[in-house]
Amino acid sequence: MLQLHIPTLLLANASVVILCGLLMLFSWWRGRHERTLLWGGGMLLLAAVGLVLNSLRGMGLDWLSIILGNMVLQFCVAMNWAAVRAFCGRATAWPWMFLGSLLWLLLCLWPAFYGEIRWRLLAYTLLMTLYMLASMTELWRSRHVLGVSSLPALLLMGAHSLFYLIRMLVDPAPSSAAGAAPSPLFAMLLVESMLYAVGIAFLLLSMVKERAEQQYRAAAYSDPLTGIGNRRAFLSAGERLLRLCAEQHQPVALLLCDLDHFKAINDRYGHSAGDLVLQQFSAGVALQLRKSDVFGRIGGEEFACLLVGTQADALALAERIRLAFAAAAPAQRPQSVSIGVASSLQAGYDLTRLLSLADQALYQAKGGGRNRVQAYAEAGQALPS
Ligand code: GH3
Ligand code: MG
Ligand code: MG
Repeated sequence: MLQLHIPTLLLANASVVILCGLLMLFSWWRGRHERTLLWGGGMLLLAAVGLVLNSLRGMGLDWLSIILGNMVLQFCVAMNWAAVRAFCGRATAWPWMFLGSLLWLLLCLWPAFYGEIRWRLLAYTLLMTLYMLASMTELWRSRHVLGVSSLPALLLMGAHSLFYLIRMLVDPAPSSAAGAAPSPLFAMLLVESMLYAVGIAFLLLSMVKERAEQQYRAAAYSDPLTGIGNRRAFLSAGERLLRLCAEQHQPVALLLCDLDHFKAINDRYGHSAGDLVLQQFSAGVALQLRKSDVFGRIGGEEFACLLVGTQADALALAERIRLAFAAAAPAQRPQSVSIGVASSLQAGYDLTRLLSLADQALYQAKGGGRNRVQAYAEAGQALPS
């Protein structure tokens, strides 16, 4: 039979839990904006205190172990819930945080409860399971918006609760007599809580890291002014769409849009008025596009749009964009856009070539007086729009 030496286990448990807690707090300290890590780290440090208090049973300080130790541990489970809520972007539910510890204190003041270990075990397990269920529900409800893999954390919390429930069923009345040897399940509990501490610290840290990476990637690919994809995003999504269309032999076309006399808008009405025009243009175009189309701001006042369709489809869309933008101008300030169009018929499925041909068409549109759509055609054959 495996012999587990409680003091050794306790020492190992406290060291591991404290180390995990400190590592989480260290990660929080570096950015100081991810409250999940603050709650998680705090929970682990406090859990070490709670476990040490809990192990004082039978040393003449039972009330300290039973009342205070378990109040601390109940608050730790509430902190676990707060960490999950913080990760899901929800505020700390302060009154509910103290409810478990407070209920425990009140119950312990009732001598019949305090004197009966079965009741204490039942109440402790139920309170702890409720907090864990609240944490799991939080993760489950937010699983679609979190965008990170929170399933392992959810499973770990489920397993942690299950352990306590099984422990209660297997050994509903562990010996509480002074000087009695601690139940073997107490040793198991120390091992389990150590595993939970390591698991939850690792999972919360990796969830936070995964989300930070997603945010950095999104920032690197989006244009902060208009919210649409930037040049990098356009090129990467455009290449992907072209590969797909080449495989399926579908025609594609590229629209290159450049706002006319935009510098004059900035000069006359100010840079922020110019910014608004850029936002208005991109929002207007986005309304005209399908989900499969790739749209991005590829330069200051230059936008590109790659769509599945023929040159005729692209010309029709470009004309709609041109008319809508001109129509959206305020009475005192006209605005217009010139658009060059090229298609896979002339450029094949090569994005650089499509951009280059559309740029040549755009140059012709500018030369032809602006506020127009121009299709690319070989030299001397440019089609009038
Ligand atoms: P054209 O009709 O020939 O295209 O003339 P234009 O004035 O539109 O083109 P030009 O290239 O001379 O000027 C583009 C201007 O766009 C210059 C630059 O200050 C402005 N611009 C670039 N990015 C931004 C931005 O983010 N916000 C604002 N407000 N202006 C910008
Ligand atoms: Mg330009
Ligand atoms: Mg321009």
